Amino acid sequence: MISQTPKERLIVVSNRLPFVVRKGSDKQWKITPGSGGLVTALLPVLRDRGGIWIGWPGTTDKIDDISQVLADSNRDAGYALVPVALTDDEVHKFYQGFSNEVIWPLFHDLQSHCNFDPSYWQVYKEVNHKYAQVIARQSKENDFIWVHDYHLMNVATELRHLGVRSRIGFFLHIPFPSLDIFLKLPWRFELLHALLDYDLIGFQTLRDRRNFVQCIRAMVKHVTVQGKGQVLTANVGDREVRIGAFSISIDYNTFIEEATGAEVIEKVRQLHGVLPDRQLILGVDRLDYTKGIPNRLEAFRNALVRYPELHRRITLIQIVVPSREDIPKYHDLRTTIEQMVGHINGEFTKFGRWVPIHYMFRNLTRVELLAYYRACEIALVTPLKDGMNLVAKEYCASSIKEENVLILSEFAGAAAQLQNGALLVNPYDIEGVADAIYQAFVMDKAERQGRMRRMRRSISKYNIFWWVDSFLRAAIAKDLSAFPLMEDYVPKTDIDVPVI
Ligand code: UDP
Repeated sequence: MISQTPKERLIVVSNRLPFVVRKGSDKQWKITPGSGGLVTALLPVLRDRGGIWIGWPGTTDKIDDISQVLADSNRDAGYALVPVALTDDEVHKFYQGFSNEVIWPLFHDLQSHCNFDPSYWQVYKEVNHKYAQVIARQSKENDFIWVHDYHLMNVATELRHLGVRSRIGFFLHIPFPSLDIFLKLPWRFELLHALLDYDLIGFQTLRDRRNFVQCIRAMVKHVTVQGKGQVLTANVGDREVRIGAFSISIDYNTFIEEATGAEVIEKVRQLHGVLPDRQLILGVDRLDYTKGIPNRLEAFRNALVRYPELHRRITLIQIVVPSREDIPKYHDLRTTIEQMVGHINGEFTKFGRWVPIHYMFRNLTRVELLAYYRACEIALVTPLKDGMNLVAKEYCASSIKEENVLILSEFAGAAAQLQNGALLVNPYDIEGVADAIYQAFVMDKAERQGRMRRMRRSISKYNIFWWVDSFLRAAIAKDLSAFPLMEDYVPKTDIDVPVI
């Protein structure tokens, strides 16, 4: 489905370009397309309307050559790729520093992990200014500029200073914290005002949007917020800013197609052959302290202690995908995980018959990932906090027979949408997660199918194309009552924690 919105040109801006650019051993530049739902969803829209994708090409090498290589490789694509040049110091202070040592932990409620180095903020502003200069050079008045994620929250402010009058939207892919946590940020007022320079701000869930609204009501003078449904309107002085909740998703049909491919089916057969007569539990996460991997391992251990009948009848396959290893906290986390896996296996392994945890630290190929999704009867997706968590949705989409069980943290953005099918858990509650593992293990086929069917129906309807389309329509719609809440967001309990 291509967006039905009027055909202004679209300018997409993200920290990284959707292509990986690197020099091969023959000293020639090599360009490989990025993967992932965002790229899949946005490229058809860009082709349809024409437009530009602006971002850092992922290398600090000389940029002139890269601009040419990108232009050559994309000549017939119907849209252009424009690089932003960053120096090593900028990558260190803007990307690793402010983005990943300040905003990432703070917005995931882990303020004790923050490194509030004042030089990071300075460079963050400078780099956002750099992005804005590139955008200003490329954009025309009627373009719609869509900026993505926490690396670029200041871009609208910088663009306004440069005199750009186009409409600008922003989508935050990570959570937005509550007022008490946001207040810890030394640059809280500047950042909040910077966000209000956008015309449309999109959050993943109603909870994130509510936190943002709470912050602006408390911290910004003369602000009123009205509306109900998916998109609200804030009046700030004489400006109107739209604030919406748009849960990002996956290309559902492509997942089904790929998950039913011959290579995947063969790999599933092999996995069951190697690990027979048991249920497989899958954990697959980037190496990140927000993913709650140590808590999950502790819960798995607790389940083995309290439910001995699980011995030899379940195996946890924990895959950790390398990420941000230059940051010390990530390096330490890897050591912690590997020690815990070693302890648990040391405690419970039955020689020659059963190893409770199979652990891998590497990137998977697409076929491997899909095969694990299909082969594992249960998935443990238990982040301490997560913007959405696409692994949860991909796991459900790949559950072709609808017989798999998803155990899902109530602090993942996906929980609001999948609450009617997943076993929701508090990842800090070790016994609660252990009980959920046991509940999943004994769950009968009819209940598994009922739960999985409900989740798949929702993911199929609210897929990545719905996400792009509803964001772009919300930017221009005259009547915001045409944006009702997603069906699954209906609160079921008095406490709204798992729901919004
Ligand atoms: N993924 C990947 N390589 C792997 C394993 C997973 O690219 O070896 C993908 C997975 O398909 C998913 C993404 O990584 O689309 C993880 O997204 P998620 O929202 O779950 O978490 P994030 O890593 O963005 O915090």
